[in-house]
Amino acid sequence: MADARSRPVVRLTPNARHRVLQGHPWVFSNEIASVDGHVEPGDIVEVRDRRDKFVGLGYMNPLSAITVRLLTRHDVEINGAFIRERVRQAILYRESLYGETGPLGQSPKGYRLVFSEGDFLPGLIVDCFGGYIVFQTLTLGIDRWKEDIVSALSEFAEPKGIYERNDAPVRELEGLKQTSGFVGQPFDPVVEMDENGVTVVVDVQKGQKTGYFLDQTDNRFAIRALCEGKTVLDAFSYSGGFGLSAALAGAEQVLCVDVSDAALDLARAAATRNGLNGAMFFRVANVFDVLREFEAGNQQFDVVMLDPPAFARSRKMLERALAGYKEINLRAMKIVKDGGFLCTSSCSQHVTKEEFDEMLEDAARDCRKTVRIVERRGQRADHPVVLGVPETEYLKFRVCQVFDFR
Ligand code: SAH
Repeated sequence: MADARSRPVVRLTPNARHRVLQGHPWVFSNEIASVDGHVEPGDIVEVRDRRDKFVGLGYMNPLSAITVRLLTRHDVEINGAFIRERVRQAILYRESLYGETGPLGQSPKGYRLVFSEGDFLPGLIVDCFGGYIVFQTLTLGIDRWKEDIVSALSEFAEPKGIYERNDAPVRELEGLKQTSGFVGQPFDPVVEMDENGVTVVVDVQKGQKTGYFLDQTDNRFAIRALCEGKTVLDAFSYSGGFGLSAALAGAEQVLCVDVSDAALDLARAAATRNGLNGAMFFRVANVFDVLREFEAGNQQFDVVMLDPPAFARSRKMLERALAGYKEINLRAMKIVKDGGFLCTSSCSQHVTKEEFDEMLEDAARDCRKTVRIVERRGQRADHPVVLGVPETEYLKFRVCQVFDFR
């Protein structure tokens, strides 16, 4: 038991108490009625309701709009051992889920080891790519525990190397500096991993986010049956995740399009590595322009993938974001052959499943196509969703079949 008197106490306003008691770990600045005691940014605080009933323990950053993030509903001591145990549990969950018997850091595959709120470690993201760990501590409250986190990752995952990717702009909102680099022994930052038989090339140093988007792993596998012998457009391809999977499945031709030449370099390297050069083509371009061009030139594909970056970074941007999603989906529907497939994603947490489906319905109506949903999918299970914490469920993925008649 921790000494309750030594911990600062944060009292909630009534509306926050309701949401927080439903299981949500965030307390916003305007939901705090009072703070008793001195709090240094990042300190552990005790959260109590209006009637002084214990709610939980979390870390506080008065600089951040999300002022407290709860770590537990129990009255325990939050220390290095607590954080290490959370990391261990997160790793154990992946081991059992994916039937990995040895340490995950010795696996040739890729896994998200820690998914922030989804693993009850708000602010912490850890990915492992073929034995190389990349982590981000995105809040001040979790950044404080970096040493314990790194030592737990080393001990429980036994990785071949660790890289810190804290060059994330969101850290500045927390009063943290952007920084990145090797932790411990340096290694070649361009690593390889196996994703269902595809050798994927990941640049942990210069790649986007942590280097690779593991959340789409199962979806890349799910589209294989659609792609054999087909022409495929992988729009917003990044390092070619979907395109490589399609080509491995026997697609006749895959065109990867991305604005980032560096991303396509990784895709090209992977195509060569997998002996898929003959089927894969690459184009550095804006997808909005390319879709318009294909429509004008009557160029059609059997399968079109759309996996844009998050267009809505806040709920305020929702309307504009939905207009963007609708534009690319509508244009994509137009260039899918009659009876072909559109595999479309949104990774924006501010767009709900319902809003995404409605947007697709609008797009289908406007381009006078009949579209049926073949499959509704989401993020892989190593990005677990916590009920009552809608932010943890962010990826929407739909396989749609598109028909010319209406
Ligand atoms: N499909 C990828 C992930 C895509 S991430 C995978 O399976 O791994 C989104 C990608 O869209 C990024 O690589 C980014 O460079 C690219 N991008 C963003 N805006 C774009 C635009 N307007 N046109 C083309 N690519 C864009």
